[in-house]
Amino acid sequence: MTPFEITILGCGSAKPTLRHHTTSQVVSVKGTPYLIDCGEGTQVQLIRYKIHTGKLDHIFISHSHGDHCLGLVGLLSSLALDNRSNDLHLHVPADLEPILQAQIDFFVQHRNFNILLHPISFELPTPIFEDSLVKVTAFPLNHRVPCYGFLFHEQPGDRHLKRECIQLYGIPYDAIPSIQRGLDFTTANGQVIPNDELTTPPDPTRSYAYLSDTLVVPQYTELLQNVDLLYHDATYCAGDEALATKYFHATSLQAAEFAKACNAKRLLLGHFSSRYKDENGLLEHATQVFPHTLMADEGLTVAVD
Ligand SMILES: [Zn+2]
Repeated sequence: MTPFEITILGCGSAKPTLRHHTTSQVVSVKGTPYLIDCGEGTQVQLIRYKIHTGKLDHIFISHSHGDHCLGLVGLLSSLALDNRSNDLHLHVPADLEPILQAQIDFFVQHRNFNILLHPISFELPTPIFEDSLVKVTAFPLNHRVPCYGFLFHEQPGDRHLKRECIQLYGIPYDAIPSIQRGLDFTTANGQVIPNDELTTPPDPTRSYAYLSDTLVVPQYTELLQNVDLLYHDATYCAGDEALATKYFHATSLQAAEFAKACNAKRLLLGHFSSRYKDENGLLEHATQVFPHTLMADEGLTVAVD
């Protein structure tokens, strides 16, 4: 199965503390990293957790609050010192684009690579990016400023060739890739062997959804139905619903109820407030509703499976 995993670089809210960095994480598919959010100090976290930025070509920013994007210009500035040459794509909410462009023009003007800004401004879930590994859909969340969630869908892999068929039908090595892509095979004596006889279906595709920062968004339970891993804002603990509502965040209990409604396989809680000395309460409340819950933590890598 293709490696598909999430590494948490920061999962604290508002400002960095000795316990948590502000928000950033890496989605890694088959060794290719995609960065989601870029709080202050993200570039140091990338070094600490051995994420190679040479292959980082796409960064997704959820919204314009500083705890999700203040590390971006610093990271770009360092990439410019790295002799990078490949294009870098920034997918950012439209309100952030002019501010970011001005900072790039001022701080990152001497560079050998293109920075391409892709503004996000949609009222409905919209595909924003696709490559050979993943397809990414952005969807508006419910926060104090324009804010977007991201749904990463793994692209379908190749079909599996039945080993015994290679000898049985005399399949040459160079014919294997096309059979794995679904084509039939014609033997040396002209017999056409249907692909179904030669292969078994590809591995099921997996998905990862990122929702931070936001109130609970029940309108997306269908979009996110059966998602394999759901990262959700859990800034507050149950009992602090009034605060969560006031600041457009969620409690861990609300996140768990949402994960249950989505029939998610697993829930990863994050964006923790520094007001709680002990975060175990957040996990306890969540697991009562949704047992397959994990707490984010800096350096934690979670496989999407
Ligand atoms: Zn925010």
